[in-house]
Amino acid sequence: MHLPQLSGNGWLHAWLYLMVATGIVTGIGSGFFRARKIQPNGFKWAILRHEVLFATITIFITAAILGFLNRQLIAHGIIRFRHTPARWWMLAIEYIAYFFLFDTWFYWLHRWMHNEPIYRWVHKLHHKSTSPNLLTTLSVSPIESVINGGFVPLFLSLFSVHDVVVGLIVQTNIVMGLYVHSGHEFLPRWWNRSWASKWFISATFHDQHHRYFTGNFGGYTTIWDRICGTMRPRFEGDFLKVKDRLRGADGPHGAAPAT
Ligand SMILES: [Zn+2]
Ligand SMILES: [Zn+2]
Repeated sequence: MHLPQLSGNGWLHAWLYLMVATGIVTGIGSGFFRARKIQPNGFKWAILRHEVLFATITIFITAAILGFLNRQLIAHGIIRFRHTPARWWMLAIEYIAYFFLFDTWFYWLHRWMHNEPIYRWVHKLHHKSTSPNLLTTLSVSPIESVINGGFVPLFLSLFSVHDVVVGLIVQTNIVMGLYVHSGHEFLPRWWNRSWASKWFISATFHDQHHRYFTGNFGGYTTIWDRICGTMRPRFEGDFLKVKDRLRGADGPHGAAPAT
């Protein structure tokens, strides 16, 4: 049998993809994902068709606009990258600054987009999905996508960060977007009870925003929602209900109805 020619790195990537694919298939087959679904009966074909259509349109328009903007800013020397090596704490400061500044940007603009007429014109398209899935991440108006994604060139124009941090920023943006729309709760039951972790968003937090349309506006953290009193009062209780379903009827907290 003729094996494809791959470098050591190529084989490592192929091995990682195989592990992830095996994990996903095993997770589906064993019911691992089903048990962690936040809204077990939320799937609708009509919504999926809407998401496929708008995700496709948005990804092309956003890539074109932000790609052009980034190239221009780099060409004119407004975005300049520092090259590693750098001290680890310097990289940490740059990354943490991005994380909390983007969270602030997202919270306030997202909250603003819930006002009429901007809601009807722009943000409503994303809220067509009342039970989010991975595709919901991209199913947004191109205007909203450019507003959210535009933070990265703005941040990079204001602060000259190291190239390795830019890679982390882009990956964080993608992973967090997919994670909060995953429709599954993977975090442990104690997440919102711990003083350290309760400030960070969970999939249930954003899932509730889609289900009820109001409250829980944060993108990475719950900080602004807690400060401004916009966190849904039933968020923590509903999070526990999702986790209780995992424990079954004999669990210490009893089973909650699959809502
Ligand atoms: Zn919203
Ligand atoms: Zn969303």
